[in-house]
Amino acid sequence: MSALQNTQWVLASRPQGMVEPANFERREEEVGKPGESQLLLRNLYLSLDPAMRGWMSDAPSYIPPVQIGEVMRGGCVAEVVASGHDDFAQGDLVFGMFGWQEYAVVDVAGPAPVSKLPAGVSPTDALSALGWTSLTAYFGLEDVGKPQPGETVVVSGAAGATGSVVGQLAKLKGCRVIGIAGGPEKCAWLTDELGFDGAIDYRSEDVSRRLKELCPDGIHVFWDNVGGEILEAALNRLAMHGRVVFCGAISGYNEDAPPPGPRNYVNILVRRARVEGFLVFDYVDQMPQALAELAPLVQSGQLKTREDIREGLDSAPEALVDLFTGANIGKLMVHIADPSGAPADA
Ligand code: NAP
Repeated sequence: MSALQNTQWVLASRPQGMVEPANFERREEEVGKPGESQLLLRNLYLSLDPAMRGWMSDAPSYIPPVQIGEVMRGGCVAEVVASGHDDFAQGDLVFGMFGWQEYAVVDVAGPAPVSKLPAGVSPTDALSALGWTSLTAYFGLEDVGKPQPGETVVVSGAAGATGSVVGQLAKLKGCRVIGIAGGPEKCAWLTDELGFDGAIDYRSEDVSRRLKELCPDGIHVFWDNVGGEILEAALNRLAMHGRVVFCGAISGYNEDAPPPGPRNYVNILVRRARVEGFLVFDYVDQMPQALAELAPLVQSGQLKTREDIREGLDSAPEALVDLFTGANIGKLMVHIADPSGAPADA
């Protein structure tokens, strides 16, 4: 095989405040040949996630930061171009952390797992409806929030990839669901198409006043994707023994200094509430069982998701910023290439 050219986006600088496209640099280099137990992959789709902002910072977290000059970390669906491992064949579709690049040589026995796409799952579904964001919603509700029928569940970041699934799964459990999102279009989607019982446009409405109106019995489960002032408004409405599922705090990801804690933290004590953080990666072992439950819901249309697909690897640096301005509608991903060969199970 003649040497392939690889386009990559590497981390050029650590963001100060809001992440910028200039924090990344485009690089071209030759693709290496896969050795024993390695795969040469061609990335088809790249997932863009708010967590990437954290990976760009040199701050201690649950995963080491991306180093300056290193290919930006990112979850991808890829096609096997050449295989040095018996379990994988040319044309197989796989997912894993293959990075912001057209090609990747990965070690099957390395620390980052390489998994085959389950039969019947499309490349974009593997990053959206049946991807990490849906799994986050599933495990956060099942294991942390544990909403009961008739309870009121409030979700921030409700029209996003994770939040929209949280709300729909809570509805399927018989809960009353209120979503908080930015803008009338996103709010209308929640109530008119996803069946939420109410939606609050945090950009134009008084969130505290609307929560009081929409949650007369208080909030039994608050799903926090955002933190900041929206979290404070929700803590003020927590029901006795309410649960806060701490999934994310996107409003603070681009702040250089940690935001001040919720000023009404004492409400957690007064309402005998529980706040619990979680990471979806802790549930990898339970993924097959979760997907077995989610797949029929997606196929039957009971669980609806939106995909926001940007064209070409070069769109990635600008698209990432959209997660923090709310310009994405649905699971944000980048289309890099189409599969050239037929996967074994397609
Ligand atoms: P997403 O919700 O599809 O996209 C991010 C959305 O966040 C934007 O569309 C925007 O929607 C909202 N947002 C951005 N800045 C905001 C601000 N300052 N105030 C209020 N809303 C803001 O992204 P996602 O991948 O599903 O992630 C959602 C959250 O889940 C993030 O906090 C992420 O870190 C977290 N997460 C956690 C785990 C875990 O394992 N714990 C796993 C995956 C994701 P609006 O237009 O509504 O503002």
